[in-house]
Amino acid sequence: MAVFTPTWAVEAIYGLTAQSLKQQGIKAVLTDLDNTLIAWNNPDGTPELRAWLTAMKAAGITVMVVSNNNRQRIGRAVANLDLPFEPRALKPLPVGIDRAVRRLGLAKSACVMVGDQLLTDVVAGNAAGVRTILVRPLVETDQWNTRINRFFERLIFKMMSPLHYLEELNDKH
Ligand SMILES: [Mg+2]
Repeated sequence: MAVFTPTWAVEAIYGLTAQSLKQQGIKAVLTDLDNTLIAWNNPDGTPELRAWLTAMKAAGITVMVVSNNNRQRIGRAVANLDLPFEPRALKPLPVGIDRAVRRLGLAKSACVMVGDQLLTDVVAGNAAGVRTILVRPLVETDQWNTRINRFFERLIFKMMSPLHYLEELNDKH
């Protein structure tokens, strides 16, 4: 189950604090786009997201989108957020994450992959050798391929040991 198990879980990406990331030695957050960073029904992002991006920037933590979508689609989606991105990431393969880490010039131990899907984001991050954070999807989706993934996710969750919540983990230190 190790390949499906995220290092940590949080409710939403903007629940990650610069302090908890820094305590873990993380300098870059690689993030999925759809349902992790933005919802299909709110492409400009929420005020919480904008505040979180500002806080990450102020703390010197890079946020980079790693998505299976093409350059055009991601470019449109993040135009108002001013974020670097790696398109056609081929998750669950580690290809796009490896490209992003090389581009950033950081050690893998300084990067974390955040996403809402075990079968793409978490598996890709684990395969790439970075730490992984699972978030709850921002909205329920009707896309057929996502629905199929969710079905298998539920089975995997039943077999997996309980998730570690990042903020709880930091409280222990
Ligand atoms: Mg997603």
